[in-house]
Amino acid sequence: MKPLVAIVGRPNVGKSTLFNRLVKRRLALVEDVPGVTRDRHYADAEWGDRAFTLIDTGGFVPGEKDSLLKQVREQAQLAVEECDAILFVTDGRAGLTAADQAVAELLRKSGKPVVVAANKLDSESVQVQALSGEFFRMGLGDVLPLSAEHALGVNGLVEALLDKL
Ligand code: GDP
Ligand code: MG
Repeated sequence: MKPLVAIVGRPNVGKSTLFNRLVKRRLALVEDVPGVTRDRHYADAEWGDRAFTLIDTGGFVPGEKDSLLKQVREQAQLAVEECDAILFVTDGRAGLTAADQAVAELLRKSGKPVVVAANKLDSESVQVQALSGEFFRMGLGDVLPLSAEHALGVNGLVEALLDKL
């Protein structure tokens, strides 16, 4: 069976954009409005001679009784239980939030292989400058600069992921 990889992170960081790019099709709905309800999407991704199955997590319900933070944690927990490795996406322009920290803690405790991306860093120069120490303090190792929308840093991210599978 192919290894299973989940993309996790809080709403609106660019998970679905990354998912579509990696599966090379537009299967997941990219939403400008944070917190719109979506299903989980599964698709096969191929990279050179390697293949894996990718899950786009989401399904956040705005205004639900459960807080956003709790829903984000639940998605991450599900991913940890189900998957061989995790792609954890953060917003490199917004910086770390409480929801990011909660996910990071859960992932650290899980011991599962994790690759962390700081997305929305849309140019080479921004990618070089932008990564501040706060991301590294999550204790999940390297944080790779990414622009899912402009396809910058995607190869490096997938290489790092494949190294851990
Ligand atoms: P998700 O909620 O984490 O799945 O995020 P989406 O993939 O739906 O993206 C949320 C918003 O961020 C959309 O407006 C995307 O166009 C935008 N976005 C995603 N990736 C990037 C990126 O690399 N750079 C910029 N500037 N915007 C992005
Ligand atoms: Mg999404």
